[in-house]
Amino acid sequence: MYRNILLPIDLSEESSWRKALPIAIEHCRAFGPSSLHVLTVVPSLMTGATAYLPEDAGRKLMEGATTALDAFVGENVPDTINAHCVVGQGPVYHVILEVAEKVGADLIVMAAHRPALRDYLLGPNAARVVRHASCSVMVLREPAGP
Ligand code: ADP
Repeated sequence: MYRNILLPIDLSEESSWRKALPIAIEHCRAFGPSSLHVLTVVPSLMTGATAYLPEDAGRKLMEGATTALDAFVGENVPDTINAHCVVGQGPVYHVILEVAEKVGADLIVMAAHRPALRDYLLGPNAARVVRHASCSVMVLREPAGP
């Protein structure tokens, strides 16, 4: 029985949600009324680079990610699902763990790694989340291609 499902996705990487999103939605339906928290993390601006960027670059990055995530959820998550968008900034695994605690997640659903990195069984963020999360983590793999 899962009440708060966290789905961390990289909006620029379809493989992070192609399989994970339908499975997260199925679990929300199966255990409803559940909440689906869709999280995307934007990188922190490198300290050395901020001097060369406009002052509001960080804010614009967050705004852009918020708009993109809202649009993604609007297009891909049925209205019947109680969905919440969360945008974080910082090291990906760290933000995922932090948000999981904050929203009281009892399940994190995430893809194991990008298809390009088949040599790894777990990508770096997935590995850290599995190791440190205090809730259950469902790690999804896609069948290897040709
Ligand atoms: P890889 O290096 O192969 O992408 P990761 O461990 O970084 O492996 O990615 C696995 C999963 O981590 C993704 O499917 C996604 O759930 C999560 N993840 C990666 N990047 C982000 C991001 N920017 N925002 C939210 N989640 C992310």
